[in-house]
Amino acid sequence: MSLLNLTLAQASKALHAGEVSATELTTAYIKAVEELNPRLNAFITPTPELALAQARDADARLKSGTATPLTGIPIAMKDLFCTAGVRTTAASKILSPFVPPYESTVSAKLKAAGAVTLGKANLDEFAMGSSNITSAYGPVENPWKRTGSDAKLVPGGSSGGSAAAVAARLALAATGTDTGGSIRQPAAFTGIAGIKPTYGRCSRYGIVAFASSLDQAGPMARTVEDNAMLLNVMAGFDEKDSTSANVAVPDFTQALTRGVAGKRIGIPREYRLDGTNPEILALWDQGIAWLREAGAEVIDISLPHTKYGLAVYYIVAPAEASSNLARYDGVRFGAREDGHDLIDMYERTRAAGFGPEVKRRIMIGTYVLSHGYYDAYYLKAQKVRALILRDFQQAFTQVDAILTPTAPSAAFGLGEKMDDPVTMYLNDVFTVPASLAGVPAMSVPAGLSSEGLPLGLQIIGRHFDEETVFAVSAAIEKAAGFNALPELRAK
Ligand code: GLN
Repeated sequence: MSLLNLTLAQASKALHAGEVSATELTTAYIKAVEELNPRLNAFITPTPELALAQARDADARLKSGTATPLTGIPIAMKDLFCTAGVRTTAASKILSPFVPPYESTVSAKLKAAGAVTLGKANLDEFAMGSSNITSAYGPVENPWKRTGSDAKLVPGGSSGGSAAAVAARLALAATGTDTGGSIRQPAAFTGIAGIKPTYGRCSRYGIVAFASSLDQAGPMARTVEDNAMLLNVMAGFDEKDSTSANVAVPDFTQALTRGVAGKRIGIPREYRLDGTNPEILALWDQGIAWLREAGAEVIDISLPHTKYGLAVYYIVAPAEASSNLARYDGVRFGAREDGHDLIDMYERTRAAGFGPEVKRRIMIGTYVLSHGYYDAYYLKAQKVRALILRDFQQAFTQVDAILTPTAPSAAFGLGEKMDDPVTMYLNDVFTVPASLAGVPAMSVPAGLSSEGLPLGLQIIGRHFDEETVFAVSAAIEKAAGFNALPELRAK
């Protein structure tokens, strides 16, 4: 059991010291997946044979001295990353038969570093959602429960399978993608850490597209350090993605011990929303106190256009999605329904292949882009998006990082908030502005709710200053001393 309780950094040390082999470590995680995946549904496609073959290669590398810090580390791959020869579904029926002939850049980098892939992790269909209930392969169960209750909770979304796998110790780490909060909110709901890097930091090549101007890959793992080790490998310029940034990648682990003495931390007053759960506000105050005690200067700031964030996001993201998802027409790849002519075939294929949330987004997106509404919605939203970016740029002339809660609540029950899509969209209120601005943001587990559920704090930084985000996150992590684990296995 103890192999499952290691952090990535600890496992890496043990592998390099020869205290454990990659094959032993991988076998322990494969067993854990076999034991708990039937209940949690964190993986759509487990790949145990592939994992064992990769583990054997990793052991050879560890022996020959060519290993990297990630060699032999078993991870989960969000099923939005194309993996050559391994089915990639985006949690949609329309991609159920799709086996990509090529590999995404991020997964290729992790493979090249010697990471072991345990399988493809569940998510909301096409990464659209905040609770992993829109997956065509069934919902994911959060490994956490409310104290004294057996009600099933959601793990958040869209990277819900990745988050549940790491929290339940079915993997040492996972990849995620974040368009409006999909790394940070599930990390918060499951008591793990995850970072959405600056837009352009990680290549989007080979990641099934949702909203291209927002999508960004990032790591999810138990600790801030583990995230830094993963991002070291995942980040970097890629000529196959025209929006990937040609910016040097520092060693992010070096930033972890910088501390926050003398750092200026902004507290945006617009995030103190009426009606926010008092426990979330209390945790935020606690976070402020921790950073002050660690020597940071706390400054009240304003991000005046925050209140338009959700409205802008739910115009821009569906607009881009409606365009990106036009490619699923039954002709080139994926599932096809027969029809009596071409148009009929398109219609039947798309009607059968997409779930209700994806259809809703396509309809909203086509509407806001249509003649007569384009100026009123899409163009207006783009203008307000520029103002949201300007808010952050102005704030970052005064402060080095911003601290907020990650989500307005702890994990909610499977089946709750499902009647009205707008209630579900409200979950993204604290995460969406950083996505629209393209700035890096991390969620760190900071405490437990009165019901015994994990809560996260969000640290937002300047463009390409993930190092400060890591430094502040590490300070919060240290002060919080969060080490609670969900009770899944007999002790
Ligand atoms: N929950 C948001 C949405 O439904 C964000 C999803 C994401 O970041 N992929 O669009």
